[in-house]
Order: sequence, then C-alpha cells, then structure tokens
Amino acid sequence: MSVNQQAHTGPPYGQPQPGYQGYQQPAYGGQPLPGVLQSQYGTYNGPMPGYQQPVPAQGYFPSLGFPSKGSPVSLNSDTSSLAPNFIGSLRAPPTSGAPPPSSGASLPSGHLVYSQFGHGDVQNGIPASAAPMQRPPASQPFLPGSAPTPANQTSTFQQYGPSPASVQQLSNHMAGMTIGSTAASAPPPAGLGYGPPTSVPPVSGSFSATGSGLYTPYTASQGPPPTTVSQGLPLAQPPFPSQPVSTQRLPTQVPGFAPAPSSTGIGPSSYPPTTGAPRPPTMPGPPLPGQTVAGPPASQPNHISSPPPPSTMSGLHPGPPMSGLHGPPPPTHPPQPGYQMQQNGSFGQVRGPQPNYGGAYAGTPNYGSQVGPPPPPKRLDPDSIPSPIQVIEDDRSNRGSEPFVTGVRGQVPPLVTTNFLVKDQGNASPRYIRCTSYNIPCTSDMAKQSQVPLAAVIKPLATLPPEENLPYLVDHGESGPVRCNRCKAYMCPFMQFIEGGRRFQCCFCSCVTEVPPHYFQHLDHTGKRVDFYDRPELSLGSYEFLATVDYCKNNKFPSPPAFIFMIDVSYNAVKSGLVRLICEELKSLLDFLPREGNMEESAIRVGFVTYNKVLHFYNVKSSLAQPQMMVVSDVADMFVPLLDGFLVNVNESRTVITSLLDQIPEMFADTRETETVFAPVIQAGLEALKAAECAGKLFIFHTTLPIAEAPGKLKNRDDKKLINTDKEKTLFQPQTSFYSNLAKDCVAQGCCVDLFLFPNQYLDVATLGVVTYQTGGSIYKYAYFQLETDQDRFLNDLRRDVQKEVGFDAVMRVRTSTGIRATDFFGAFYMSNTTDVEMAGLDCDKTITVEFKHDDKLSEDSGALLQCALLYTSCTGQRRLRIHNLSLNCCTQLADLYRNCETDTLINYLAKYAYRGVLSSPVKTVRDSLINQCAQILACYRKNCASPSSAGQLILPECMKLLPVYLNCVLKSDVLQPGPEVTTDDRSYIRQIVTSMDVAETNVFFYPRLLPLTKADVDSDSLPAAIRNSEERLSKGDIYLLENGLNIFVWVGVNVQQGLIQNLFGVSSFSQISNALSTLPVLENPFSKKVRSIVDKLQRQRSRYMKLIIVKQEDKLEMLFKHFLVEDKSLSGGASYVDFLCHMHKEIRQLLS
Ligand SMILES: [Zn+2]
Repeated sequence: MSVNQQAHTGPPYGQPQPGYQGYQQPAYGGQPLPGVLQSQYGTYNGPMPGYQQPVPAQGYFPSLGFPSKGSPVSLNSDTSSLAPNFIGSLRAPPTSGAPPPSSGASLPSGHLVYSQFGHGDVQNGIPASAAPMQRPPASQPFLPGSAPTPANQTSTFQQYGPSPASVQQLSNHMAGMTIGSTAASAPPPAGLGYGPPTSVPPVSGSFSATGSGLYTPYTASQGPPPTTVSQGLPLAQPPFPSQPVSTQRLPTQVPGFAPAPSSTGIGPSSYPPTTGAPRPPTMPGPPLPGQTVAGPPASQPNHISSPPPPSTMSGLHPGPPMSGLHGPPPPTHPPQPGYQMQQNGSFGQVRGPQPNYGGAYAGTPNYGSQVGPPPPPKRLDPDSIPSPIQVIEDDRSNRGSEPFVTGVRGQVPPLVTTNFLVKDQGNASPRYIRCTSYNIPCTSDMAKQSQVPLAAVIKPLATLPPEENLPYLVDHGESGPVRCNRCKAYMCPFMQFIEGGRRFQCCFCSCVTEVPPHYFQHLDHTGKRVDFYDRPELSLGSYEFLATVDYCKNNKFPSPPAFIFMIDVSYNAVKSGLVRLICEELKSLLDFLPREGNMEESAIRVGFVTYNKVLHFYNVKSSLAQPQMMVVSDVADMFVPLLDGFLVNVNESRTVITSLLDQIPEMFADTRETETVFAPVIQAGLEALKAAECAGKLFIFHTTLPIAEAPGKLKNRDDKKLINTDKEKTLFQPQTSFYSNLAKDCVAQGCCVDLFLFPNQYLDVATLGVVTYQTGGSIYKYAYFQLETDQDRFLNDLRRDVQKEVGFDAVMRVRTSTGIRATDFFGAFYMSNTTDVEMAGLDCDKTITVEFKHDDKLSEDSGALLQCALLYTSCTGQRRLRIHNLSLNCCTQLADLYRNCETDTLINYLAKYAYRGVLSSPVKTVRDSLINQCAQILACYRKNCASPSSAGQLILPECMKLLPVYLNCVLKSDVLQPGPEVTTDDRSYIRQIVTSMDVAETNVFFYPRLLPLTKADVDSDSLPAAIRNSEERLSKGDIYLLENGLNIFVWVGVNVQQGLIQNLFGVSSFSQISNALSTLPVLENPFSKKVRSIVDKLQRQRSRYMKLIIVKQEDKLEMLFKHFLVEDKSLSGGASYVDFLCHMHKEIRQLLS
C-alpha cells in the first residue's frame, strides 16, 4: 500500500459486549419522523427470573469504539494494480453538512395499554400493561407527501456543489481508462417493463401458435391423464408429483354421505364436527327468482350444471343461490333472465368467436349425450360462476370486524384481502404463517387421494400493524433457550409439563426432558405452569429468544452488519442521470438505516464502491478532509484495497461521505466507458465484509449485461424463438454456474445482495439474479429508466429497501410433530442440506413456502404441530431466534380437509411450484400438470364429499370455489404463457419475485384489483367496491384503477364526462390526456384528492412502489391493460374464466368416469 492509507490502528470491529439482559423489544423500522412519538415497545414485566424490568437498549454503542481485537488484516500485496487518487483534497470540508442526528430517545414514553390477555385478574403478573407496538412501517418516513428529512438536512443538498478541483484530479485517473465506444442510442420511451410501447404488436392475430393446443391433452382416447402428464419428465426429479388418482381408487359413493340440501356446502351435516371454525357462508351473486331449493342460501355447494337433454331443456336453472348453475331444472321452469340456454350438452360453450382458442374443449362431442353437430354455441353467464369479488366481500363483511384469536387449533384465518386484527393466544398469526389446509389428512393415502398439497407459507419477520404486538424477546440466560433433548424443538405452548413440573414431554417427538433448575415452576391443578401467562414461550404462538454464543458463527458474537452501496458508473448510468440521483438520495437516506428501539443512531456501517470495467473503492474515514479513491483494475482476483476507512459510521464520517456523494457524479460525468463487470463487484463486497468480520448487504445499481473481461462475464443468449420448445427452460436457467458458487460463498459470510437493474436491453436477469436470489436479497428492475417518469418509483423502492427490517446470517428450520415433515422449500434462499434454509439476509417481505409430506400416521386427537425457528442477527448485531408455532387439526374424513382449505395459499404454493418447474421442464408440461393436479383435487371432492347429483354438475368445495379462476390466472401469467410483448428478462424477473411473495401478494398479482374510481365516495376513506377483471365490466363513461402489486393502471373510458377529466387530469378533453404521465397531477378538487389518496393507500400496502400508467380506451397502451383483465381470454392464448371453468369441468368428469 502506498499513499492515502491512514495508519492502521486495528480492525474496525471488536468483540461486542456480551450480556444481553433485560427484556428488550426488537423495534425495527426507519427513523421516526421528527417530532413523532418514538416507538414504545412493550416489555414483559413479569416477576420471573429471566424477566427483568425493561431496560433501554444498552451495551450496544459500537460506534463509540469497541475494544480492538485481533491482528490487522494483511492486505493483498498486489499493489501494482492500485491507483490511489486524492479526491479534491484542496477543498475544505463542508462545515454545515451534518444534520443533527435525529433523536428519538428523549421523547415521552406514553404507554397506551393494550393487553392481549384481556383485563381480568390473572395470576403472576400477566403482561397486561404491555405497551402497544407502535413501530412505524418501514416505509413510513418516505411516504409521498411526508417530510422525513429535517429542513436543515434538505439544505445540505444544495451546499455541495461539484468540486472543480476534484474533477481535475480525477481526470488523471480517468485518462488512464480505456475509452470504449459509446453506445449512445437514445433510450426508447418508457414502457411498462414489458418493452417499449413501440414494440407492441398490433392486436390482431399472430398469437395462435402460442394459444393453440393448450388444452388438447386429455381426451377419452388418450387414457387417464395422470400418466400422460408424468411422461417426459425426468425420472429422478419429477417437477410435479403426479399421483394418479385412478377411478378405481375413488369409491363411487362414500357411505354416510347422503345428500343434504341444507348442509354447509361442504357436505352433509352428519360429518363429524370440526373444532375449527368453518368458513362463514358466502353468497356470491344475488339469489335469483324461482329458486326451488330450500335451506340457508349460503349453505350450498357450488353447482354448475351440465345441461339436461335438449328435449327437456328450457333454460338453466340457477340452483342453490351460491354461485353456480344447477340442473337439470324441472321442465316447467321458466327461462331465467341472465342464464341463457345450454342446448348441446357441452356446458360452457365458448363465448362468441374465439379463433385462437383452438376448440379443444369447445363443443366437445364426447361431452354429454349430444351427438351430431352442436347447435350454435351459447355463452355461460359469467355472473353465474364463482366470483372472486363476491368471496372477498363476503369474507370482509363476515370476518373483518372481530379480531382473529389464535387460541383454537386448526382455525382457518380470514382471507388476506380482509382487514382484521390478530390476538396471539398460542398460535402464530396468519401474518407469519398461512397453510393450504388447517385440517390435514391423517394418512398419506388420504393426502395422495385428495392431491391437496400440504404447505405452509411462512413470513418469519412479517411487519405487523401498529395495533399488534411484536414478538417478545425472551432471555433464558447463559444456558440458552430451553429445548427438547432429542429433536431440539424450542420451548413452546404445546410442551407438556409432567412430574410436578420437573420434566416436560416434547410435543414434537414425545421425548421427556428435564426442566433446568432455573426454569422450574410449579403446576396448577390443571397441570399448567403457574407462570404460564408470564412467559411468552408458554402462552404465545410467536416470540423470540436471545441466542447465546453457541448460536453464533465461530462461537463469537457477531458484529453489527454493514451496508455497501455499489454504483455502476458506466456511460448509460451516468447519462440517464441515475448516478447523480442515487448519490443525492443516499445523502439523506443514510440517516434512515435500520435501528432498534431507542437507539439514537443505527449500528450499521456503510461503505461505497463505484465501478464500470474496474472498481473504485472509497476511503471515507472521518479524520480525512476529503474522501480518497482507490482503483482496482485487476478484477480477475478481487480484493479490497483498504480496510480502515472503508466501512464507517455515518454520523462520524458524514462530511466525508457527503463530499464523496457530491463528487461521484462529477468524476464520471464525461465517461465513455460502456462496459461493466458484475461478479467482481459482488466479490469485492463479499471480501469487504469478510475483512470486517461482519454480515451485511450489498446494494448494487447495475445497468448492462456484464461483457467486460472478468470472472462471471456473460454473453447475450436471449432467444425468444425458444419459447414453446423443449429448450425454453434454458431461458430461465443461469448461463454459468459461476454465480451459484459465488452465492454459496456469500451465504457463508452473511452477505446479502440487493440488485437494482436499469436495463435498456437484455441483461440476463436469470443469471445476474442468481446471487440475489440465493442470498435472500431483493431484485428490482426499471426497464428503459427515465429520470422524469421512473425516479419516484425507484427512490421509493430504494428507501423502503434500505430501511426495512432485515435479519442477517439467517437459518430457518421447520420442525413438525411425528407423522409429517417438511420435504420441500420455495423462496429466495440457499440450502446446503435438506432441512436448513439459509439466507444471508431475510427481510420483512420475504416469504418461504414449505411443503409437508406424511411419513407416518397422524391422529385426530393430537393434531399436527409446526414450529418454525429462525436464527438471525438483528440490525444491532444481536443474535436471536424467532419462533413461530402453529397447531393444525387432522382428519379421517376428506370432507374435513376440503372444508378447511385456503385457496389463496394453495395458489401461492402452486404458482411457486410451477415457477420452479419451468427450470427443468417444458412450460407446457408444467401447465398441464397444474391443470391435472387441480382437476384431481376437485374430482376427489366431487367423488367423496359432494352430495350425489347429476353427473353433469360441476360441484366445487366452498373453500375452493375460486380455485379454477385463480389457477387460470397462474396458467396465463407471463412466466407460463408469455405474450409477445413480454421479454425474457421480464419472465425471469417475475419468476424470481413471485417465488418470495406472500399470499396477499400472489393474490393480487394473479387476480389484480380493479376499482371504479368514478364510483368512489369522495367523502369517505373507503375504497370503491372492486369489480371483476373483465372488459365487459368496464363502462365507457367511467375511470378505473387496476393494481397488481407491480403496476397501477388508470383506465379512462372514451365517454367519460369532461368535468371528471378536467378534475383528474387538468385538461379539458379526453384527447388531451397524456399517457406519458407517471403521476396524477395535484389538483385541488375532491375527485383528484380522492383518487390520489387511493393511489397512495395502495402504494403503502405493497412492498414495491407500483408504476402508474395512464391508459386511454382504444389507445395503443390499452392492450397492456387488457393483459390484466384476467377473466377474459388473453392475447397470448390464455383461456377466459368461463372457458377454463368448462375445461376444468370436463377434466373432472373424465377423471370420474
Ligand atoms: Zn422433541
């Protein structure tokens, strides 16, 4: 090392102080707004040992100087490649730059009392006065319209102009760079992320190749579908467990399952009662006149009939007022309005001409008794089939008012679309865990027969609403959390204390373990420990344990994590204004790094790297007058040229950091370098964290395919001609294994990689995203980034990403009670064995879907238990275990399974399963397998649970009546059936982000929310009632909003009143509305305010900031919008809901025949 290195005084990190006592509440989230009450975290103030009085966060002031420990890290000796440069050393340090650290510590501690245990007298110091969790949402400080930045801080933006001196000095270095050819083509207009609008093909034709033959597979002559599906799949690892349900294995009729018209829609009332609360009845669609079926309206299965023979056909009778058609109707029945006649035995004819939808199941001759040419097709009334909107509305009105109390085993929670509060009384909140079924079959045979996947969607660090308590932090002292001796399950509410409290029997493996003396407590007359309510781990479903040093890497407590910002400064990044934007933003954003509780400042250290073909490291040590740059041009063997001064505390180094961020855009303003490296950037971040002996996160801002000579160099291998061929899967696979190996190293170090991509062309998301994906990171993509239209979205994403709660160096294990075990996992993580899910970082949005299989019998009495344990390092560097427990019912009757399913969760699982399947199987095989599995699920229900009825009836389980419509949305999604406008990178991107989505996100992603804005009540806070996603629901005189978690469309009908257009867009006519708008203009009238508040509300609900797109009816962009009207037939060949339902019906009938 030559110049610019400060004397090395030791590594920046020392040993943190041990002794995490007290009962601290973790408290994440960004910096509170100035003047806003700091979060008050309830403490568990019971009198028990180990439950000490609350103490403020203590013992963690890493920036004040840990004792130095260890020897200096020797630097790589390859100094020849170092080209240190002074940056603007002539410039005096700014004097007014440092905004005061905003302090939350001195805020009043107003305790609002909220007790999850009620207010009765309970023994032993119930935590009845636990303070409310007022954690601000992670994104709150940066909500549009809010002012997170103190005024004086804003002023610092202005005061750091570019330094001419530094530019000149830098030019010495810049001159040495290779000047590449400038690919200076102007960026195309901002598109949707699906390619520039100019590339949108005309609506007409040319999609038949994609669309045809999608639903050709199973005709009677082809034999049973399951075997067909499983053919052609790799034997070693079939992507879909195709478990044929032969008709022989299905009993023709289950004794005791008599028809019961007044039963609950799931089966006759003679079924054994379940302890779980059945879904409240729903009534989608108004009852129609002329109903002949008695009984509560909501208690019927969903019938959709096959038509009767033509001779008796006089119209479809809307049977039980549930959601379907019933038949055959009595001959005397008059035709029903809205239910047009079905005449040819092929219920569910296609609606009107559908030239691209190759007739595979339209008017199928082998369906029904009709022979000869079918009569002209008639449409099935969409109002008669199950409506997602109705199901959502019913659940809201039935379950939105009462808190969901988790004290009862196997309760199905309200839908994700319902707003409800959760009271933890022994099971984890559905915000943490949702299951496909809350009543699982006792035997493997039963599970296979039903084909219902048993899966849990787990979001271990989920954000809770302010009214709910964060998990309490429990300290069991030096010996660590109390665990089962054999299976190592953690102490939880389901452990049975015996022998007067001296031992406990494990609820997972039945092993008996001695209670450690310090943990002993007497039992009351019911066998319950008398400190039951004092201990979260005995009475709550979710809580945290403080981990001891045994749970730490190398038996050493971790250091606080670090964030490293790594900015692409190649030509495109600079020219688009991106580099300047990032640097400006970081100056204020660094004040909002994650912290806990009353900490005055974040413990997280920061570092900065810029790169193109070479890497530039920056020394921002607080004692420097100006930052120093060190260039590493030998990218083949990456190392970090400086240690001391690279990772720094923000407040200590503020002036140097601000100076750096001012100078970076100037330094590279004239760059001609278009080529970039990528893998060396990750390697550099990884090496820096290794040297600092800490975990952390890399924020990489990247623009191009990395074609510069370096490890991990990529080539453009995009080829859309591979779509619908056996090689399509290669589009989703990384082009080299280099990045997987790099990801493994990153996970070992706890180095999480968040990737922000700004491509103007293909950059191989499938390969670049590998490290992000396997380290638990997040990926964001802004195609054709343009400052004016995209900066809001990018900045909001960045702010949320930097501030959100994240755990590092995380390992998750799911334990189960005897009889089932976790067998498969989906999400963004790495696995080095078959049980442990490893994530370098896990944030509050990341979800892991876990599948379970039987390995033994379960019993109805004991049910089944899950315990998810997540070991992680908090943003303060504290090692913790977060535990979530969930108890499920077990059943011997299939009807109980079908009565306790959750379709939204099922779809989450199926989508992730399918999206993984495309890596190894042809996409068509994946689609067919999905259809087949769902047909088997519904056929099994029909065979075993539904009351006997006409074979022509489609009968859906109440809890799964939306399975066909949602499944169709998955099948039509861009990954499984891309339209011509969808790029290869789009598909890889969506494949990756869906894999980490929770149930609410997959729900709105696959079935977007469509709101009639012109129906909004400007005087109320509520959203207008959603409508179904079909063009025929749109009125030319109205304005609609559609959101799917990634985009928001505002669709304007051609006949919208001029006054509304004026009020919303500030222009006088439809033709003057610009669809280049990326935000709605701020206008002072009630309609504008209402619409903007709706948009803001939706943005806050989503983990990504959605892109706003204005679509005028009959405009070119409307095609993109129509892509999201998922009940309609899609341009890429996807079936309409009605058609698909008919197809599913046919599949089911074939399975049953
Ligand atoms: Zn055990």
